[in-house]
Amino acid sequence: MRRQDRERLIELRKRLHRHPELSGHEAETARIVSKFIHSCMPDTIVRGLGGNGIACIFKAKRPGLTVAFRCELDALPVEEKNPFSHRSKSPKISHACGHDGHMAILAGLGMRLAQHRPQRGRVVLLFQPAEETGEGAGSMIEDSRFRDIQPDSIFALHNLPGHPLGRVLIREGSFNCASRGMIIKLRGVSSHAAYPEKGRSPAHALAEIIESLPGLPHGNENLSRVTIVHARLGEKAFGTAPGYAEVMATLRSQDEGSMERLVQRAEDLTGETGERHGLDVEISWSDVFSTTLNHPEAVDLVERAGSACGMTIEKTEAPFRWSEDFGRFLACYQGALFCMGAGENHAPLHSPHYDFPDDLIEPGVTLFEQIVRDILG
Ligand SMILES: [Zn+2]
Ligand SMILES: [Zn+2]
Repeated sequence: MRRQDRERLIELRKRLHRHPELSGHEAETARIVSKFIHSCMPDTIVRGLGGNGIACIFKAKRPGLTVAFRCELDALPVEEKNPFSHRSKSPKISHACGHDGHMAILAGLGMRLAQHRPQRGRVVLLFQPAEETGEGAGSMIEDSRFRDIQPDSIFALHNLPGHPLGRVLIREGSFNCASRGMIIKLRGVSSHAAYPEKGRSPAHALAEIIESLPGLPHGNENLSRVTIVHARLGEKAFGTAPGYAEVMATLRSQDEGSMERLVQRAEDLTGETGERHGLDVEISWSDVFSTTLNHPEAVDLVERAGSACGMTIEKTEAPFRWSEDFGRFLACYQGALFCMGAGENHAPLHSPHYDFPDDLIEPGVTLFEQIVRDILG
């Protein structure tokens, strides 16, 4: 990569880092990205795809397959604690997952395609909104304009701290877990704190649910987890015994079958506990992520491309516990998600000290470009 190209990409990455936006609100990010990508002169730029999403299409002269690459536009509600000058300008929001870096990598691929179009077919760069809430991939696919895109294969990468910089981590089948957010509302009757027997407090039910939900996964479902993430009981008033409580928990599983069983057990346990305490129970679900199922041929392709670029490939033994909205694409199209190490001592994802390592931009571009050349020439 030319030095001036590398510098332009780092500058873009830092600019995006300074202006993080939450899931579903990525208007400015989309504007910055489409301005940059416009300079790569794609044949088509589709804006506002499934929200703030963008698709940039680069066509070859000869017909052929459509290969898509996806990155994410959104940042997180995490207050950044870094001292450097490109730190987030938005209080309580930051690019703590490195999506700024993933965007720079796709922009870099756009620059390479501007300099050297594929021999046949089309390359589509997808900038997806709302990844962190598990909504954006579905809304892009469901957008009627996505019908003209329909990739034959689709790829995405995620940086991963705790592994050597640039190492490629991949596996066939489940790459990471399915997860979903459970919201439990318990309604009883409030009363004067002097006469608690005249009301129905959800306090005991709340305590029981917090205690028992995490114990639901069976021993043979070793990646299944229930994590309590939030709880609330009554109001901050000494005169009133509570009549309302709320619990939020994240359920996680290696595959959809285990997830369905876990959901059923969580609903049964909550319903039964509420009933025993004479409470109305309302359960709703949010942030639903499918498991990411990598297709074997796409995994082979990534491995071969990585080896051709002299990269170290590591086949991971088990799926990662975290979830990725990219699973929604892989439920419809052939493809693969893989990780690239962000450095062994790098701050973890979603931490207030995290910052995407700029040294990973070039390897990301190189590997994506190699996949393009392998499929489309
Ligand atoms: Zn994230
Ligand atoms: Zn992420």
